Formats: sequence, structure tokens, C-alpha cells
Amino acid sequence: MIKITLPDNSVKEFEQGATPMDVARSISEGLARNVISATFNGTKVETVSALEEDGKLVLHTWNDDEGKKAFWHSSSHVVAQALEELYPGIKLTIGPAIENGFYYDVDFGEHTISEKDFPAIEKKALEIARGKHEFKMRAVSKQEALSYYEDQQNEYKTELIENLEDGSITFCDHDTFTDLCRGGHIPNTGFIKAIKILNVAGAYWRGDENKPQLTRVYGISFPKQKELTEYLALLEEAKKRDHRKLGKELDLFTFSQKVGQGLPLWLPKGAALRERLEQFLKKAQKQAGYEMVVTPHIGQKELYVTSGHYAKYGEDSFQPIHTPKEDEEFLLKPMNCPHHCEIYNARPFSYRELPKRYAEFGTVYRYEQSGELHGLTRVRGFTQDDAHIFCTPDQLDQEFKEVIDLSLYVLNSLGFDNFTAQVSLRDPEQPDKYIGTIENWEKAERAIINAAKEKGLNYKIVEGEAAFYGPKLDFMVKDALGRQWQLGTIQVDYNLPERFDLTYKGSDNESHRPVMIHRAPFGSMERFVALLLEHTGGNFPLWLIPEQAIILPVSEKHEKYAEKVLNSLENHEIRALADHRNETVGKKIRDAEMNKIPFMLIVGEQEESESMISVRRHGGEDLGKISVKQFVDLVEKEISSTLKSFK
Ligand SMILES: [Zn+2]
Ligand SMILES: [Zn+2]
Repeated sequence: MIKITLPDNSVKEFEQGATPMDVARSISEGLARNVISATFNGTKVETVSALEEDGKLVLHTWNDDEGKKAFWHSSSHVVAQALEELYPGIKLTIGPAIENGFYYDVDFGEHTISEKDFPAIEKKALEIARGKHEFKMRAVSKQEALSYYEDQQNEYKTELIENLEDGSITFCDHDTFTDLCRGGHIPNTGFIKAIKILNVAGAYWRGDENKPQLTRVYGISFPKQKELTEYLALLEEAKKRDHRKLGKELDLFTFSQKVGQGLPLWLPKGAALRERLEQFLKKAQKQAGYEMVVTPHIGQKELYVTSGHYAKYGEDSFQPIHTPKEDEEFLLKPMNCPHHCEIYNARPFSYRELPKRYAEFGTVYRYEQSGELHGLTRVRGFTQDDAHIFCTPDQLDQEFKEVIDLSLYVLNSLGFDNFTAQVSLRDPEQPDKYIGTIENWEKAERAIINAAKEKGLNYKIVEGEAAFYGPKLDFMVKDALGRQWQLGTIQVDYNLPERFDLTYKGSDNESHRPVMIHRAPFGSMERFVALLLEHTGGNFPLWLIPEQAIILPVSEKHEKYAEKVLNSLENHEIRALADHRNETVGKKIRDAEMNKIPFMLIVGEQEESESMISVRRHGGEDLGKISVKQFVDLVEKEISSTLKSFK
């Protein structure tokens, strides 16, 4: 008999060789119907795999991430089979599950495919799925595996196999199709009830620009047709909210081929919006005890060798800048941290002066392949709302809580209420992987967990996900369409204080190492504005939006009065403009709606004679005729309901 421990820590005994499906059945028939994959002792297994030893078993359904992964991974096999049948002679490479669906990178050889071919591929794949073919794993020797793909003249798969160890290689068969695969499938293809090919894109083999270009076929699949229909509706909405489209329509930012790819240019309205975001955070940071610093955009190569960033960003990023003087090399800064460490090093500190909290809206530059660039979310130059806290190990607990407070303040003020946190800790079984004493790690990990708990965060702990230099907490935000974005990170660091030999004098008069916390609530200004655009669809919170109101005179006769209204709004710091174009009010309203301006103030004969304005909200709600003073009160009230003071 073997002992199987379930996630609720209950232990059940089974015959040796029992399968995850047997375990599911022993719990309930309903569960057995819904189980689509399993994890045994941390490794993906099939629902029909024989369990030979004691261990921890997690059963997955469509409703959890691992279950979806198995579902989409299995679907990629089915789509690959459909592609092979429709386009004989193509070469398959890799086909993983991704966050939403899966892709397969294919060398199509003579064939080309485009959107018009998608329905035929979907039809074929569904036909295969309906056959309810079981996925069967089998071990193969390296020689067998190589000769299987050599026969097909598939140099990609043989390259993959060359790098695998003999004895660890498995194939997966279903129907007439075979693929090199590590496992993790749903029981059979019949679970797949809906398949959609989403798009195709170019992708280099192994992501290397010097290697052959392949076609990446993206798809998604579902256990119910209804779920696919809902997903497609969501995609439509996402297209409308694409930040690249909205950024253009709202005049926020642009890109220029002449300036260079991945280098955003902020237009006046976008720059002003960014400025408001910065001022908002600066104000809260000041209250939280941060001090602003400013550092240059480049630094000596040595600086980044010391920090270790050269090893990460040196060769694979922008190349060094050389000066006329020989042997002098500078790098565009990939991170602000090394500069801030040197600011800390500029003078000695006693424990009584800590923590020091240095903040900077620091622009950093990192090379990204042109194929990876995407609007404001993947760029080559971006500004982090960066700060580094230098504190004693005993202050970590309190500092962490305060950083969480600040992050929550940012999220709340910007209308995000759906977020979770991920706490990344050491892998306790690999202590050698990490720098810093065990004692300090335990202290830091406890500090993070306590802080997350005390602040009531909805968090999950992931062991083994910490960086080698310290544990961290990441905020994950769900936008209005339910898509997950990773936002600001709070990262503990024992490494840089070591590398930069940072010290403070303790109460014992001895020299000690401070701990460093890196944090950025927005992440970067670019990414955050992109997220805000897609979350709000351009309807930013009133305190942030470029224009809060537009005055629409009914005819030329009322221009003077419109200007007068505009003047008094400006005196109350309301951002407004007047539309003096020779257009009908109807047309002016439609354009203001397009531009997402929250309030339209219509002024005509009656309004002018009564010194009033007729207010219409974005979206159509009629607020009637009110005085300018009443309108100002309305705006101020609405702003203060979302934008509270930090302390
Ligand atoms: Zn597979
Ligand atoms: Zn940093």
C-alpha cells in the first residue's frame, strides 16, 4: 500500500500502482469527471500514471491554472496533428501552453498560412478532438527518438533531443500523432469542445535572430463552446481598449522610427498625465519619509560590474559607450540601484539615522529584440518609480508594512480593487543557492509574510521563486477585463549591500550591513499608463484625466460667456477647454464623447442669461442646469472620494 497526501493534508491509502484518477474516484464521482491532470510530488503526471510511492498529490480541474495548462498543452498536440495533416511535410518545433491558450512554432517550408486558413485548421482539430483519443506517454531511448525525427528530416526536434539525457526522453502518442513531450495531459482529446486559432506571427527558432524564422500559430481551446464565445467577446473588448490605439486617439504618446523602436515619445497631454502621476506619488512618498535623489543616465562599466548587472545586461543589452579617451567605457543604466548604493556610500551612517529611503523617477535602458517590443509595455527605455530603502535587519518588518501601505494607497487611488500578492521565498531544500545568512533570510521571510497577513492581502506563497539575493512580494492586478498584470515588486536584497560594502554603525559601535529594499509601486510609468488605459478604456479617474470638462457653446454668440466659464473653472484648477468650432452642439458632444471627457458643459441663450451651465456626463447622463460654483463642488467632491491623502 502507498500513502497519498491530499492538499487538505488528509492521507489516504491505496494499492501501489493506483492512478490519480483512482484517487479522484475514491473522493467522488463528480471529481473524477472533472479531473483533467495531476501533480505528484511536484511533478506533472498523467491522470492514468501509476503512483508507485508515498507522496503528495494535487488533482487539477479546468478551474485551476495547472488544469488549464494541461488542457492547452494537450490542445497544442491536437492542433499540431491537424497542421501536419493539412500541410504535409511541415516541421514541428515546440508548442507550449501559455497564459491564455497555447502556440506551436512551425517551419511551414513551402506552405504559407494566413487568417483565411484558420477555419479549416479549427475544423480539422475539432474532428480529431471528437475522436476521444487518449494521450499515452512512452519512454524512448535517445537513439530511437533521434532516428524518429531524422526520418522526418526534422532538424529542430533532433536538436532538442541532442540536448536531452538518454533515459529521460518521452514521447506522447494520441490517435496517429506522436510528439516529443515531457507529459502533463488531459485524459483524452474528447474534453476539448471548442478550438480557435487566434493568429500567426513570426518567431525565430530558439528566439535567436540568426536562426531560421518559424511561424508561431497561436490558439486557444475550451471545454465548452460557450466559454469560447465569451472569450472572443472579451478579446473584442480588449482590442477596443488596446493602449496603443487609445494612446493615439487620446494624444498621449507616439513612436518615431527615426527616434528608434521601443522609445516612446510622450506628447503634451501624456506628459502632463505622467507628471500628475509623479506628483501624486511624490507627495505620498514625502509623507512616508522618502527623499528624492537624481542620478545620471549612464554610469561607468565598473559600476555595473560591481553590482553584477553587467553580467545580466552587459553583453545582451546596449553596448558600452566609448569616450575619446582610451579604455573609458560607460553603459546606459539598466537599473537605478547601483547609483543609489553609491549615494548611500557618500557618507557614514549610524543605526539611529536609518532607514534611509532614496526615491527617483529614474529612466533606465534595456535592449529588447524588435520582435518583443509592444507599445508601452515592452520598450527599450522606461522610467521606474524607483526607491531603495536602506535599513537595519530589525527595521525590515516595519519598512515592509509601510511599503505595502504605500502600494495599496496607489492601487486604491487609481481604481484597482482586484489584486493579489505573490510572496516568493527560498527553496528550503537548496540553501546553497542563496546569498546571506539563514538567520537573515528567516527574518526577511517572516517580515514579508507578517506584513502581507497584517495588511489583509490576498496572497499566495511560492517556495523556490525568490531571487538568489532575497525574498520578495509582487502585486498582481486584474484589470477590468479580468486579465492579470504584474505590477510593483517589493524586493529584499542582501546582495548589493555586500557588493557595495555598505555599512552603518550599530549600537554596539561595530560596523554592520544594512538590508536593502527595492520597490516601485507603479513598476514603470510606461507600463502603468498602458495598464491604466486598458483597465479604464481611457476613462481615467477624474483627478488624473487630461481634460476634466469641455465647454460647448451652442453658437458663436455664446463664445464670450464660454470663455468666462472657462476662466472661472481654471481659477478652481479644473482642467477644461472650450470647443469654439463652427459645428453643431450634437457634433461637439459626439467628439467630446470620443475624447472621453468626463463633463460637457453646454452654454446657450438660457444658460447665459441665468449665469448657469447645462452639464452632461460622459456616457449621456444629464445633470441639468447648475451654477459654475455647484459644478466646481461636484468635481471636487468626486475627486476627494477617490484621491484621499496618504497620511
Ligand atoms: Zn504533451
Ligand atoms: Zn533596485
